[in-house]
Amino acid sequence: MGKLDGRVVLVTGAARGQGEQEARLFTEEGAKVVLADVLDGQGEAVAEELGGLYVHLDVGSADDWGRAVAEAKAAYGKIDGLVNNAGILRFNELVSTPLDEFQQIVRVNQVGTFLGIKHVAPQIAAAGGGSIVNTASYAGVTGMAYVGAYTATKHAVVGLTRVAAMELAGQGIRVNAVCPGAIDTAMSNPAQLDPEADTEEAARALGELYRKLVPLGRVGRPQEVARLALFLTAEDESSYITGQPFVIDGGWLAGVSVL
Ligand code: NAD
Repeated sequence: MGKLDGRVVLVTGAARGQGEQEARLFTEEGAKVVLADVLDGQGEAVAEELGGLYVHLDVGSADDWGRAVAEAKAAYGKIDGLVNNAGILRFNELVSTPLDEFQQIVRVNQVGTFLGIKHVAPQIAAAGGGSIVNTASYAGVTGMAYVGAYTATKHAVVGLTRVAAMELAGQGIRVNAVCPGAIDTAMSNPAQLDPEADTEEAARALGELYRKLVPLGRVGRPQEVARLALFLTAEDESSYITGQPFVIDGGWLAGVSVL
């Protein structure tokens, strides 16, 4: 018995990183997974390996959402789970951030999450209930200098999560947020995307940084976030939990240390 037997879950940003691991774990647990991304080649390859459905979906486009939902329903008959995982990060001082850059981050991280809820929640309700997990960040519950636009959108994702939980509870839909700290994906470790990069050296530098910064002494793994998303998606595990942000950060936000 899988924890998601009979479920159909759409995961955005599923071509790589945390979304890919969520698609893998959810498939292992019996779900039919709809993998959505803009990285078509990578997404299709993962979907083929898992026996899932790949859909091209730019989360900031309402038209794309309409098409993705239609394709998912044509393939599997329903959708009763959503993981709004897709996101982008840019580093910049607030006063130096170009308006275009700010708006691009809002479009993907914040509008993307809003459109996901707007398009998929009615499907989940029609299927008799289910769950939505929104990927925020620890930058959704505390400030983080030099990623101001990102931080603003991740706070917004936590806000959307709370409101959606209240508005959708009556339709049997639970809505929660995951708030990861530093996770070892291309976002925190861009060397993963650079064929020229010395990946061992990048891993060593990352290890050294987080040994000092994080009480548990290491960067997080995307598989660990996937297990939290599974917990929040599986009805048997989290049936009385809705509207909450869940920090998964190795203790980084636990407090400050003077020594
Ligand atoms: P990642 O960059 O490896 O994955 C992000 C995925 O989102 C990619 O597959 C990318 O193609 C996809 N994506 C980007 N723009 C898109 C769009 N417009 N439409 C559809 N898909 C799009 O990084 P990740 O760590 O796996 O990121 C997953 C989520 O976790 C993001 O929301 C990110 O903000 C959040 N997060 C990451 C960290 C971290 O340290 N890696 C920490 C906290 C939160």
